[in-house]
Amino acid sequence: MIAPFTYSALPMRVVFGPGSLAALPDEVAALGLTRVLVLCSPEQEVTGKQVADALGDRAAGVLPEARMHVPVEVARRARELAAELGADGCVAVGGGSAVGLGKAIALEHDLPVIAVPTTYAGSEMTPVWGLTEGGQKRTGRDLRVLPRSVLYDPELTLSLPAGLSATSGMNAIAHAVESLYAPDATPIVSLMAEEGTRALAAALPRVVADGGDLDARGEAQYGAWLCGAVLAATTMSLHHKLCHTLGGTLDLPHAQTHTVVLPHALAYNSPAAPDAVAALTRALGGVPDPARELWELAGRLDAPRSLRELGMAEDDVPRVAALAAERPYANPRPVTAAGVEDLLRAAWTGAPPS
Ligand code: NAD
Repeated sequence: MIAPFTYSALPMRVVFGPGSLAALPDEVAALGLTRVLVLCSPEQEVTGKQVADALGDRAAGVLPEARMHVPVEVARRARELAAELGADGCVAVGGGSAVGLGKAIALEHDLPVIAVPTTYAGSEMTPVWGLTEGGQKRTGRDLRVLPRSVLYDPELTLSLPAGLSATSGMNAIAHAVESLYAPDATPIVSLMAEEGTRALAAALPRVVADGGDLDARGEAQYGAWLCGAVLAATTMSLHHKLCHTLGGTLDLPHAQTHTVVLPHALAYNSPAAPDAVAALTRALGGVPDPARELWELAGRLDAPRSLRELGMAEDDVPRVAALAAERPYANPRPVTAAGVEDLLRAAWTGAPPS
Protein backbone atom coordinates (compact mmCIF):
# COMPACT_ATOMS: atom_id res chain seq x y z
CA MET A 1 0.00 0.00 0.00
CA ILE A 2 1.22 3.52 -0.75
CA ALA A 3 1.53 5.48 2.48
CA PRO A 4 -0.18 8.89 2.59
CA PHE A 5 2.08 11.78 1.60
CA THR A 6 2.23 15.48 0.76
CA TYR A 7 4.43 16.60 -2.11
CA SER A 8 5.25 20.17 -3.11
CA ALA A 9 7.12 20.52 -6.39
CA LEU A 10 9.77 23.23 -6.57
CA PRO A 11 10.06 25.30 -9.72
CA MET A 12 13.01 23.97 -11.68
CA ARG A 13 14.33 24.82 -15.12
CA VAL A 14 17.18 22.64 -16.36
CA VAL A 15 19.14 22.85 -19.59
CA PHE A 16 21.19 19.69 -19.87
CA GLY A 17 23.80 18.36 -22.27
CA PRO A 18 27.31 18.77 -23.66
CA GLY A 19 27.70 22.29 -25.02
CA SER A 20 24.65 23.59 -23.16
CA LEU A 21 26.75 26.50 -21.85
CA ALA A 22 26.11 28.06 -25.26
CA ALA A 23 22.50 28.53 -24.14
CA LEU A 24 23.54 30.80 -21.26
CA PRO A 25 23.05 34.13 -23.07
CA ASP A 26 19.51 33.04 -23.98
CA GLU A 27 18.80 31.96 -20.41
CA VAL A 28 20.03 35.34 -19.12
CA ALA A 29 17.94 37.20 -21.70
CA ALA A 30 14.86 35.07 -21.01
CA LEU A 31 14.96 36.26 -17.39
CA GLY A 32 15.17 39.86 -18.62
CA LEU A 33 18.64 40.31 -17.12
CA THR A 34 21.02 42.82 -18.67
CA ARG A 35 23.98 43.04 -16.22
CA VAL A 36 24.91 39.83 -14.42
CA LEU A 37 27.75 39.30 -12.00
CA VAL A 38 29.66 36.05 -12.63
CA LEU A 39 30.73 34.22 -9.46
CA CYS A 40 33.32 31.46 -9.20
CA SER A 41 36.08 30.07 -6.95
CA PRO A 42 39.60 31.53 -7.32
CA GLU A 43 40.71 28.21 -8.87
CA GLN A 44 38.09 28.58 -11.60
CA GLU A 45 38.72 32.18 -12.55
CA VAL A 46 39.57 31.24 -16.14
CA THR A 47 36.22 29.48 -16.51
CA GLY A 48 34.47 32.47 -14.91
CA LYS A 49 36.06 34.82 -17.43
CA GLN A 50 35.12 32.55 -20.33
CA VAL A 51 31.53 32.67 -19.17
CA ALA A 52 31.64 36.46 -18.87
CA ASP A 53 33.15 36.74 -22.38
CA ALA A 54 30.39 34.53 -23.77
CA LEU A 55 27.84 36.89 -22.17
CA GLY A 56 29.43 40.01 -23.68
CA ASP A 57 27.56 43.17 -22.66
CA ARG A 58 25.26 41.24 -20.37
CA ALA A 59 28.20 40.50 -17.99
CA ALA A 60 28.84 43.26 -15.44
CA GLY A 61 31.95 41.62 -13.93
CA VAL A 62 33.54 38.49 -12.45
CA LEU A 63 34.08 37.86 -8.74
CA PRO A 64 36.43 34.87 -8.33
CA GLU A 65 36.22 34.74 -4.54
CA ALA A 66 33.77 31.95 -3.70
CA ARG A 67 34.89 29.86 -0.71
CA MET A 68 33.62 26.73 1.02
CA HIS A 69 30.67 27.38 3.40
CA VAL A 70 30.26 31.04 2.32
CA PRO A 71 32.13 33.17 4.87
CA VAL A 72 30.05 36.28 5.72
CA GLU A 73 32.91 38.61 4.69
CA VAL A 74 32.90 37.12 1.18
CA ALA A 75 29.11 37.40 1.01
CA ARG A 76 29.28 41.04 2.12
CA ARG A 77 31.90 41.86 -0.49
CA ALA A 78 29.88 40.12 -3.21
CA ARG A 79 26.72 42.05 -2.28
CA GLU A 80 28.62 45.33 -2.30
CA LEU A 81 30.16 44.60 -5.68
CA ALA A 82 26.79 43.58 -7.13
CA ALA A 83 25.32 46.89 -5.94
CA GLU A 84 28.33 48.93 -7.17
CA LEU A 85 28.09 47.36 -10.62
CA GLY A 86 24.34 47.72 -10.77
CA ALA A 87 24.03 43.97 -11.36
CA ASP A 88 20.50 42.67 -11.87
CA GLY A 89 21.37 38.98 -11.49
CA CYS A 90 24.19 36.51 -10.90
CA VAL A 91 25.60 33.57 -12.77
CA ALA A 92 27.31 31.13 -10.39
CA VAL A 93 29.79 28.87 -12.16
CA GLY A 94 31.38 26.10 -10.09
CA GLY A 95 30.57 23.85 -7.16
CA GLY A 96 28.54 24.38 -4.03
CA SER A 97 30.77 27.28 -2.98
CA ALA A 98 30.04 29.44 -6.05
CA VAL A 99 26.34 28.57 -5.99
CA GLY A 100 26.29 29.31 -2.25
CA LEU A 101 27.72 32.77 -2.88
CA GLY A 102 25.02 33.47 -5.46
CA LYS A 103 22.41 32.41 -2.91
CA ALA A 104 23.91 34.75 -0.29
CA ILE A 105 23.44 37.69 -2.67
CA ALA A 106 19.92 36.56 -3.60
CA LEU A 107 18.96 36.30 0.05
CA GLU A 108 19.51 40.00 0.73
CA HIS A 109 19.27 41.67 -2.66
CA ASP A 110 16.69 39.42 -4.26
CA LEU A 111 18.79 39.07 -7.44
CA PRO A 112 17.95 36.00 -9.54
CA VAL A 113 20.66 33.33 -9.77
CA ILE A 114 21.49 31.20 -12.79
CA ALA A 115 23.67 28.22 -11.85
CA VAL A 116 26.24 26.46 -14.00
CA PRO A 117 27.36 23.57 -11.75
CA THR A 118 30.76 21.98 -12.28
CA THR A 119 30.75 19.48 -9.37
CA TYR A 120 28.12 16.98 -8.20
CA ALA A 121 27.24 18.73 -4.90
CA GLY A 122 23.64 19.56 -5.88
CA SER A 123 23.25 22.96 -4.21
CA GLU A 124 21.84 24.41 -7.45
CA MET A 125 18.62 22.40 -6.97
CA THR A 126 17.89 23.56 -3.42
CA PRO A 127 16.43 26.65 -1.74
CA VAL A 128 18.88 26.11 1.14
CA TRP A 129 21.42 28.83 1.89
CA GLY A 130 24.37 28.80 4.30
CA LEU A 131 26.58 31.50 5.79
CA THR A 132 29.56 31.06 8.09
CA GLU A 133 30.62 33.55 10.74
CA GLY A 134 33.18 32.97 13.48
CA GLY A 135 33.32 29.25 12.75
CA GLN A 136 29.52 28.90 13.04
CA LYS A 137 27.49 28.00 9.96
CA ARG A 138 23.87 29.17 9.80
CA THR A 139 21.56 27.65 7.22
CA GLY A 140 18.01 28.36 6.17
CA ARG A 141 15.48 27.78 3.40
CA ASP A 142 14.21 30.59 1.22
CA LEU A 143 12.68 30.22 -2.21
CA ARG A 144 14.36 33.46 -3.34
CA VAL A 145 17.76 31.70 -3.37
CA LEU A 146 16.66 28.80 -5.58
CA PRO A 147 18.39 29.25 -8.97
CA ARG A 148 15.90 30.24 -11.69
CA SER A 149 17.71 28.26 -14.34
CA VAL A 150 20.41 25.58 -14.17
CA LEU A 151 22.71 24.68 -17.05
CA TYR A 152 24.33 21.28 -16.72
CA ASP A 153 27.11 21.10 -19.26
CA PRO A 154 29.19 17.92 -18.72
CA GLU A 155 32.03 19.49 -20.73
CA LEU A 156 32.63 21.84 -17.79
CA THR A 157 33.19 18.86 -15.49
CA LEU A 158 35.94 17.30 -17.60
CA SER A 159 38.53 19.22 -15.55
CA LEU A 160 37.19 18.05 -12.18
CA PRO A 161 40.06 15.91 -10.79
CA ALA A 162 39.44 12.19 -10.20
CA GLY A 163 39.59 12.55 -6.41
CA LEU A 164 37.03 15.35 -6.27
CA SER A 165 34.84 13.66 -8.87
CA ALA A 166 34.71 10.56 -6.69
CA THR A 167 33.99 12.32 -3.40
CA SER A 168 31.61 14.87 -4.90
CA GLY A 169 29.70 11.99 -6.51
CA MET A 170 29.52 10.13 -3.18
CA ASN A 171 28.28 13.37 -1.58
CA ALA A 172 25.45 13.36 -4.13
CA ILE A 173 24.60 9.71 -3.42
CA ALA A 174 24.38 10.63 0.28
CA HIS A 175 21.49 13.01 -0.53
CA ALA A 176 19.67 10.19 -2.30
CA VAL A 177 20.28 7.68 0.50
CA GLU A 178 18.85 9.97 3.16
CA SER A 179 15.90 11.02 1.02
CA LEU A 180 14.86 7.37 0.75
CA TYR A 181 14.27 7.09 4.51
CA ALA A 182 13.30 10.73 5.10
CA PRO A 183 10.19 11.47 7.20
CA ASP A 184 8.82 13.37 4.19
CA ALA A 185 9.83 10.79 1.56
CA THR A 186 7.37 10.47 -1.33
CA PRO A 187 7.11 7.95 -4.17
CA ILE A 188 8.24 10.40 -6.87
CA VAL A 189 11.23 11.57 -4.88
CA SER A 190 12.21 7.98 -4.10
CA LEU A 191 12.15 7.18 -7.83
CA MET A 192 14.52 10.08 -8.47
CA ALA A 193 16.77 9.01 -5.61
CA GLU A 194 17.02 5.45 -6.87
CA GLU A 195 17.75 6.55 -10.43
CA GLY A 196 20.27 9.18 -9.26
CA THR A 197 22.13 6.58 -7.20
CA ARG A 198 22.11 4.13 -10.10
CA ALA A 199 23.46 6.70 -12.54
CA LEU A 200 26.24 7.90 -10.23
CA ALA A 201 27.31 4.43 -9.08
CA ALA A 202 27.54 3.36 -12.74
CA ALA A 203 29.29 6.49 -13.97
CA LEU A 204 31.80 7.27 -11.21
CA PRO A 205 34.16 4.32 -11.85
CA ARG A 206 34.26 5.32 -15.54
CA VAL A 207 34.84 8.99 -14.64
CA VAL A 208 37.70 8.08 -12.30
CA ALA A 209 39.23 5.74 -14.91
CA ASP A 210 39.05 8.40 -17.62
CA GLY A 211 38.17 11.97 -16.64
CA GLY A 212 37.74 12.83 -20.32
CA ASP A 213 34.92 10.32 -20.87
CA LEU A 214 32.16 12.77 -21.77
CA ASP A 215 29.49 10.09 -21.80
CA ALA A 216 30.34 9.04 -18.22
CA ARG A 217 30.57 12.70 -17.17
CA GLY A 218 27.08 13.27 -18.56
CA GLU A 219 25.64 10.29 -16.70
CA ALA A 220 27.31 11.43 -13.45
CA GLN A 221 25.92 14.93 -13.85
CA TYR A 222 22.45 13.58 -14.62
CA GLY A 223 22.68 11.57 -11.37
CA ALA A 224 23.88 14.65 -9.50
CA TRP A 225 20.90 16.63 -10.77
CA LEU A 226 18.47 14.00 -9.45
CA CYS A 227 20.29 13.74 -6.13
CA GLY A 228 20.25 17.53 -5.74
CA ALA A 229 16.53 17.59 -6.46
CA VAL A 230 15.80 14.99 -3.77
CA LEU A 231 17.97 16.88 -1.28
CA ALA A 232 15.71 19.89 -1.84
CA ALA A 233 12.53 17.85 -1.44
CA THR A 234 13.21 16.00 1.82
CA THR A 235 14.55 16.38 5.36
CA MET A 236 18.03 14.98 5.85
CA SER A 237 18.88 12.83 8.89
CA LEU A 238 21.81 11.34 10.81
CA HIS A 239 24.31 11.24 7.97
CA HIS A 240 23.99 14.91 7.03
CA LYS A 241 23.82 15.92 10.68
CA LEU A 242 27.07 14.09 11.39
CA CYS A 243 28.86 15.54 8.37
CA HIS A 244 27.63 19.02 9.28
CA THR A 245 28.99 18.56 12.81
CA LEU A 246 32.33 17.18 11.59
CA GLY A 247 32.70 20.03 9.09
CA GLY A 248 31.63 22.71 11.56
CA THR A 249 33.63 21.61 14.60
CA LEU A 250 36.73 20.12 12.99
CA ASP A 251 36.72 21.83 9.59
CA LEU A 252 36.93 18.50 7.79
CA PRO A 253 36.58 18.73 3.99
CA HIS A 254 32.95 18.55 2.82
CA ALA A 255 32.76 15.94 0.05
CA GLN A 256 35.45 13.67 1.54
CA THR A 257 33.69 13.60 4.91
CA HIS A 258 30.43 12.58 3.22
CA THR A 259 32.27 9.80 1.39
CA VAL A 260 33.74 8.34 4.57
CA VAL A 261 30.64 8.62 6.76
CA LEU A 262 27.94 7.48 4.29
CA PRO A 263 28.46 3.68 4.45
CA HIS A 264 28.51 3.78 8.25
CA ALA A 265 25.46 6.03 8.57
CA LEU A 266 23.56 3.80 6.16
CA ALA A 267 24.63 0.66 8.06
CA TYR A 268 23.36 2.28 11.27
CA ASN A 269 19.98 3.07 9.73
CA SER A 270 19.53 0.02 7.49
CA PRO A 271 17.73 -2.22 10.05
CA ALA A 272 15.09 0.51 10.47
CA ALA A 273 14.75 1.42 6.77
CA PRO A 274 13.91 -1.73 4.76
CA ASP A 275 12.30 0.15 1.85
CA ALA A 276 15.37 2.37 1.44
CA VAL A 277 17.62 -0.70 1.53
CA ALA A 278 15.48 -2.38 -1.14
CA ALA A 279 15.67 0.70 -3.41
CA LEU A 280 19.45 0.97 -2.94
CA THR A 281 19.87 -2.74 -3.59
CA ARG A 282 18.15 -2.25 -6.94
CA ALA A 283 20.15 0.91 -7.71
CA LEU A 284 23.46 -0.76 -6.92
CA GLY A 285 22.93 -3.82 -9.11
CA GLY A 286 21.27 -6.25 -6.73
CA VAL A 287 23.80 -6.23 -3.87
CA PRO A 288 22.37 -7.56 -0.58
CA ASP A 289 24.10 -4.95 1.60
CA PRO A 290 24.09 -1.43 0.09
CA ALA A 291 26.10 0.04 2.99
CA ARG A 292 28.92 -2.43 2.38
CA GLU A 293 28.65 -1.82 -1.38
CA LEU A 294 29.06 1.96 -0.94
CA TRP A 295 32.16 1.30 1.16
CA GLU A 296 33.48 -0.99 -1.59
CA LEU A 297 32.63 1.62 -4.21
CA ALA A 298 34.62 4.28 -2.35
CA GLY A 299 37.55 1.84 -2.33
CA ARG A 300 37.24 1.18 -6.08
CA LEU A 301 37.17 4.95 -6.66
CA ASP A 302 40.34 5.30 -4.59
CA ALA A 303 38.46 7.73 -2.33
CA PRO A 304 39.17 8.17 1.38
CA ARG A 305 37.46 5.67 3.68
CA SER A 306 38.63 6.81 7.11
CA LEU A 307 38.19 9.98 9.14
CA ARG A 308 41.73 9.40 10.36
CA GLU A 309 43.12 10.08 6.88
CA LEU A 310 41.06 13.30 6.74
CA GLY A 311 43.02 14.51 9.77
CA MET A 312 40.54 13.84 12.57
CA ALA A 313 42.04 12.92 15.96
CA GLU A 314 40.56 9.82 17.61
CA ASP A 315 40.07 11.81 20.82
CA ASP A 316 37.47 13.94 19.04
CA VAL A 317 35.14 10.97 18.45
CA PRO A 318 33.15 11.18 21.74
CA ARG A 319 32.75 14.96 21.51
CA VAL A 320 31.40 14.84 17.95
CA ALA A 321 29.15 11.89 18.84
CA ALA A 322 27.70 13.81 21.80
CA LEU A 323 27.11 16.91 19.65
CA ALA A 324 25.44 14.92 16.88
CA ALA A 325 23.12 13.18 19.35
CA GLU A 326 22.42 16.31 21.40
CA ARG A 327 19.25 17.58 19.79
CA PRO A 328 16.51 15.31 18.45
CA TYR A 329 15.87 15.13 14.71
CA ALA A 330 14.10 12.78 12.37
CA ASN A 331 15.97 9.52 11.81
CA PRO A 332 14.66 6.03 11.09
CA ARG A 333 16.60 4.58 14.02
CA PRO A 334 16.86 6.35 17.39
CA VAL A 335 20.07 8.36 17.61
CA THR A 336 22.06 7.73 20.79
CA ALA A 337 25.48 9.11 21.70
CA ALA A 338 26.77 5.55 22.23
CA GLY A 339 25.42 4.40 18.86
CA VAL A 340 26.91 7.37 17.04
CA GLU A 341 30.20 6.89 18.86
CA ASP A 342 30.45 3.29 17.58
CA LEU A 343 29.55 4.48 14.09
CA LEU A 344 32.18 7.23 14.19
CA ARG A 345 34.83 4.92 15.58
CA ALA A 346 34.36 2.56 12.63
CA ALA A 347 34.44 5.52 10.23
CA TRP A 348 37.55 6.83 11.94
CA THR A 349 39.48 3.58 11.46
CA GLY A 350 38.18 2.95 7.94
CA ALA A 351 36.83 -0.50 8.79
CA PRO A 352 33.94 -1.84 6.71
CA PRO A 353 30.51 -0.81 8.01
CA SER A 354 28.77 -3.27 10.32
P1 NAD B 1 33.46 23.65 -4.02
O1 NAD B 1 32.42 24.40 -4.72
O2 NAD B 1 34.20 24.36 -2.92
O3 NAD B 1 34.51 23.09 -5.07
C1 NAD B 1 35.64 22.35 -4.62
C2 NAD B 1 36.87 22.75 -5.43
O4 NAD B 1 36.74 22.23 -6.74
C3 NAD B 1 37.05 24.26 -5.60
O5 NAD B 1 38.41 24.55 -5.45
C4 NAD B 1 36.60 24.51 -7.03
O6 NAD B 1 37.24 25.62 -7.60
C5 NAD B 1 37.02 23.23 -7.70
N1 NAD B 1 36.24 22.89 -8.88
C6 NAD B 1 34.90 22.89 -9.00
N2 NAD B 1 34.54 22.46 -10.22
C7 NAD B 1 35.68 22.19 -10.88
C8 NAD B 1 35.96 21.69 -12.19
N3 NAD B 1 34.97 21.34 -13.03
N4 NAD B 1 37.24 21.53 -12.54
C9 NAD B 1 38.24 21.80 -11.67
N5 NAD B 1 38.04 22.26 -10.43
C10 NAD B 1 36.77 22.45 -10.04
O7 NAD B 1 32.89 22.28 -3.35
P2 NAD B 1 31.56 21.44 -3.55
O8 NAD B 1 31.85 20.11 -2.98
O9 NAD B 1 31.01 21.52 -4.93
O10 NAD B 1 30.52 22.20 -2.63
C11 NAD B 1 30.66 22.17 -1.23
C12 NAD B 1 29.93 23.35 -0.61
O11 NAD B 1 28.59 23.40 -1.06
C13 NAD B 1 29.86 23.25 0.89
O12 NAD B 1 30.02 24.54 1.44
C14 NAD B 1 28.48 22.71 1.14
O13 NAD B 1 27.98 23.04 2.43
C15 NAD B 1 27.71 23.38 0.04
N6 NAD B 1 26.49 22.66 -0.37
C16 NAD B 1 25.32 23.31 -0.18
C17 NAD B 1 24.13 22.69 -0.55
C18 NAD B 1 22.83 23.42 -0.37
O14 NAD B 1 21.80 22.89 -0.71
N7 NAD B 1 22.85 24.63 0.12
C19 NAD B 1 24.15 21.41 -1.13
C20 NAD B 1 25.38 20.79 -1.33
C21 NAD B 1 26.55 21.43 -0.95
